[in-house]
Amino acid sequence: MGVNFDNTEIAFNTKSNADLKKARMLFKSFDFPFLLSVGPSLAKIVVFIGLKGLIKNTIFKQFCGGENIDDCNTAIEVLDKSGIGTILDYSVEGEDDEETFDKTKNEIVGTINASKGNNKIPFAVFKVTGIMAADILEKVSSNQNLTSKDEISLEKGKKRFFEICELAYNSNVRLFIDAEESWLQGTIDNLADEAMSKYNQETCIVYNTLQMYRHDRLAKLKLDFETTTHYLGYKLVRGAYMEKERARAKTMNYEDPIQIDKKSTDEDYNQAVKFCIENSERISICIGTHNEESSALGVELMNKNHIQSSDSRVYFSQLLGMSDHISFNLSNSGFNVAKYVPFGPVLSVIPYLTRRAQENSGVAGQMSRELTLIEREIKRRKTN
Ligand SMILES: Cc1cc2nc3c(=O)[nH]c(=O)nc-3n(C[C@H](O)[C@H](O)[C@H](O)COP(=O)(O)OP(=O)(O)OC[C@H]3O[C@@H](n4cnc5c(N)ncnc54)[C@H](O)[C@@H]3O)c2cc1C
Repeated sequence: MGVNFDNTEIAFNTKSNADLKKARMLFKSFDFPFLLSVGPSLAKIVVFIGLKGLIKNTIFKQFCGGENIDDCNTAIEVLDKSGIGTILDYSVEGEDDEETFDKTKNEIVGTINASKGNNKIPFAVFKVTGIMAADILEKVSSNQNLTSKDEISLEKGKKRFFEICELAYNSNVRLFIDAEESWLQGTIDNLADEAMSKYNQETCIVYNTLQMYRHDRLAKLKLDFETTTHYLGYKLVRGAYMEKERARAKTMNYEDPIQIDKKSTDEDYNQAVKFCIENSERISICIGTHNEESSALGVELMNKNHIQSSDSRVYFSQLLGMSDHISFNLSNSGFNVAKYVPFGPVLSVIPYLTRRAQENSGVAGQMSRELTLIEREIKRRKTN
């Protein structure tokens, strides 16, 4: 049985007419390149002069669950009514000191505690750069010498990392480790591999993330499978840092880690979905994508391999405020879906919100996909 992603009635079932009109206005504003370029500074000024409510009621409301875990309860309940789970994602970025790392670790601990025994929050997630300095991750990834200060910082970061994984294991909460830039990812992979071998002996608790825009990831997936015997968990994504990756490789004159074109990324993504589903006796996955074909392929392969739609080894995931046509239609057909619900103080999540705005800007005079779907649903409601 396939899933029809065109059903906007199901996709926007939880949205009132007023919600849809607000969302339409917001997505239309992303089509102004000038606004996008000044947006981050403008947002900071707006918050500074006391108009935080403006950001909070517009872009923040579209893409975030709230400023803290309690605030996210409304989003959690709304998603749960449609059978969709929440993945609480503490989305504060760019602050880089031991005190902030401890604070972030505590927020992640809070999300694991919120998820414990709660099927409305089926996973927890974190970014290693939230709890450990990026320059240390880079130095370790490229075998550089560490100063004694670096060593201390590394040990503190590892301690936080394993405390998070241990808590997830003891709480029986499945945990995603987000993937980051390739020059940091070597250390993240080593930590994730170690955590998987430690905590995934009885069932899959820890999931690493594979960015299939990298041309070496399909080989890594297969090698992991061949060289281990424990359960493996992967969140499969295409990858978020392509421009940055290409620019660095060019400037520093090393082989570009990114696939030569989008088609190659798509092919490897779909191959990875296939490999994981065909080996689901040992591999659990989260198909983390807004791509309709890859989502449809996941459904098709589950059917072909006689995996029930509700089998907890396969999840689909999208970000809050995006691709509801995929999330809600999949869930309506009985598949497991969970949405990332970012949270954090308004000012601190502006980098995250900026990326969402850029991603949703129209291309060459064409409306963005989200805007097209919203327009279509508004029109459908008018004619019904
Ligand atoms: C639930 C969830 C979790 C995520 N977690 C992470 C994470 O941990 N780490 C991370 O990096 N990203 C993460 N992402 C973002 C993700 O990597 C993608 O950037 C985003 O989802 C867009 O890809 P897509 O599969 O949804 O859709 P599509 O629109 O089909 O694909 C766009 C993607 O294709 C790739 N691409 C585009 N053009 C080219 C080209 N010319 N050559 C090669 N490749 C190209 C890029 O990766 C681009 O982002 C996550 C996304 C979701 C939905």
